[in-house]
Amino acid sequence: MSDMTWKNRDKFDTRLYENLKNDCQKCFGLCCVALYFSTSEGFPTDKEAGKPCINLHHNFSCTIHNSLIEKGLKGCVAYDCFGAGQKAAQVTYNGKDWQEAPDSARQMFEVFSIMRQLHEMLWYLTEAVLIKVNSAMQEDIACLIREIEGLTYLNADALIVLEIDSYREKANDLLKKVSKLVRIKFPRDQKNTINCKKTIAGRLNLIGEDLRKINLMGEDLAGALLIAADLRESDLRGTNLIGADLRDADIRGANLTESLFITQAQVNTAKGDPNTRLPAWIDYPKAWYK
Ligand code: SF4
Repeated sequence: MSDMTWKNRDKFDTRLYENLKNDCQKCFGLCCVALYFSTSEGFPTDKEAGKPCINLHHNFSCTIHNSLIEKGLKGCVAYDCFGAGQKAAQVTYNGKDWQEAPDSARQMFEVFSIMRQLHEMLWYLTEAVLIKVNSAMQEDIACLIREIEGLTYLNADALIVLEIDSYREKANDLLKKVSKLVRIKFPRDQKNTINCKKTIAGRLNLIGEDLRKINLMGEDLAGALLIAADLRESDLRGTNLIGADLRDADIRGANLTESLFITQAQVNTAKGDPNTRLPAWIDYPKAWYK
């Protein structure tokens, strides 16, 4: 593959992702309260936004943390705040939780939602800057990272009026450019018609498909529905998986070391094993060793 890309990917500075990984112990269970649950998104029941989940302990731990999948709460496993929970809790609100300050609860949940969007952008941009596509683009990405990182330290009043869409547009534009430049470097099968498949709400529908014999290297599977797809031993290097739904996708033995824009939550919901190869910044789910 091109030396512009992954040369140093295994030697990256782990501190880059330090603040972008969930640290529930420093959070106030914000995702377990602020968000709504819907049965269509992998929850056994519906829950209104702003209402604490019945499984949330008053010390903000999850009482069923070790059996979320068995109890039908796959939606929780699929959720990633990208470290926004602890940032809102410890930085914006300085450790004062919504139980201690119920008047600020509603605002805190709004702030959490904005912080999550900022941290999500930081997650993807961090990967994009590691790829080192070219120096001009790398500087643009680094610049945007610094700008967004700065926003995460704004106070609550400033955060809730933030015009976040303009940052999303800038980030999406850069991520798309990086994806294109990287994917072009991977050998493609010109006869591959995977992107001509039907879509559901604009998302490529690959639910339950056996994709083992299809060359997916360098494909753009952004947002694709890969639920329960068979990807065993697949080579997914250079495949853009941003926003793809990998719930129950079988990725045992697959190579995702150079997949683009994969998150921990996507990996947590997939079926892998110790032979699955992951990027250096993604942890192996414990369930894969059972
Ligand atoms: S089940 Fe646990 S992780 Fe999921 S929302 Fe409830 S408390 Fe949070």
